[in-house]
Amino acid sequence: MEDFTLKILALDDEPFILKLLAHMLADLGYTRVTTLTSGHAALELIGQPQDAPDLILLDLNMPEMDGLEFVRHLVERHFDGSLILVSGEDERMQQAAEKLARAHNITVLGHLHKPASTQGLAELIGQWTAPSQHPPRAQKKMYGADEVRAAIHNGELVNYYQPKVLTASGRVMGAETLVRWQHPQDGLVFPDQFIGIAEQHGLIDDLTRAVLAVAFEQTKLWQETGLALQISVNLSMDNLLSMAFADTIFGLATKTGVLPQSVMMEVTESQLMKDLRMPLEILTRLRLKRFQLSIDDFGTGNSSLAQLRDLPFDELKIDQSFVHGAWNNEKLAAMFDASLSLAKQLEMEVVAEGVEDRSDWDFVRNRGCEIAQGYFIARPMPAAALPEWIENWERDFAATLT
Ligand code: C2E
Ligand code: MG
Ligand code: MG
Repeated sequence: MEDFTLKILALDDEPFILKLLAHMLADLGYTRVTTLTSGHAALELIGQPQDAPDLILLDLNMPEMDGLEFVRHLVERHFDGSLILVSGEDERMQQAAEKLARAHNITVLGHLHKPASTQGLAELIGQWTAPSQHPPRAQKKMYGADEVRAAIHNGELVNYYQPKVLTASGRVMGAETLVRWQHPQDGLVFPDQFIGIAEQHGLIDDLTRAVLAVAFEQTKLWQETGLALQISVNLSMDNLLSMAFADTIFGLATKTGVLPQSVMMEVTESQLMKDLRMPLEILTRLRLKRFQLSIDDFGTGNSSLAQLRDLPFDELKIDQSFVHGAWNNEKLAAMFDASLSLAKQLEMEVVAEGVEDRSDWDFVRNRGCEIAQGYFIARPMPAAALPEWIENWERDFAATLT
């Protein structure tokens, strides 16, 4: 179906707004537009297969059935079209509503503040795609403990590496190790599909050991070719339940000849909120051995200031949810700035995760965050691809990103 035949429904309790929207839509060439002032009438329309709209422009604040309630009805009716919110509510409200609708798997193209502009409307409608093209709804295959165990022991896990760069000079200072499973049938499987299982079934020590061994070997190989990179690895809290594991890590580093100073151990902030006695002791022990410690996904775990003060961390990674789009969102920018300043006060290095586009990059750099990581710089890649990527990046950087 071509865009110009899109069936659009505008729902707003104010007839004046509907007139305005209808006018703008006509200007943009959309001819199949219905306007309604009541949610009930709208639901009736949606119930008619031949009339069901492809796109709904929805007001949030309506007296009889408000926008959020309307969205609930859309969910019940398995509405597979798209939604644009058009309302007078403030930015936070609009974002909250958008998030809510998305959480129910409704496709939301975005929101517009009243009075909407023709331009803004055109841009959002331009993002419309047919339901069959919507990204598949998180129907991820889950694996059994036996499969994950076999994968670890058959060497099916592979490390990918994502560069970390200095925002001021562009220099690639390190790389984060991100594990993937090269599954013989299913292709490349991502960690959210097997780390949890490994943790639940007592396989995480084996998994981490395999990841670390390869990461250390790789780091050593890079060093030998003149590429000095700090290597980050992700630890699970379950790795920090026995002293023996700290010794394992130290032993692996010694064996491969990688200095602990060049290894950054990442632990997610949310995991730090659990019972900390044993983990704290092990983390401190690792720190004594000169491994660096990083607090990952910062901002998602509600740590208390006291906890932060007491943990011997060297690096704080601001979670991607406060980075991507923060340039255009005061709320996110405020959280970003607060995290940045906290880290600086505590004399920790700060990494912005989730730098996805040029705007994110400029924001992070201008706010004085020294290290950045994200798709804009590079996606995680196999070890073999990294040296050449670094060469190209550092060569092009001066010309384009300063
Ligand atoms: P993480 O440690 O926070 O890693 C960052 C994740 O964000 C990675 O996902 C990375 O591919 C993704 N990412 C990087 N840049 C961007 C960006 O610009 N935008 C967006 N939207 N995402 C970006 P990945 O590789 O799927 O890993 C997910 C999580 O799995 C990791 O989050 C980490 O917590 C965990 N994980 C990965 N490898 C290991 C491991 O060896 N051991 C343990 N215990 N956990 C691991
Ligand atoms: Mg990480
Ligand atoms: Mg993270």
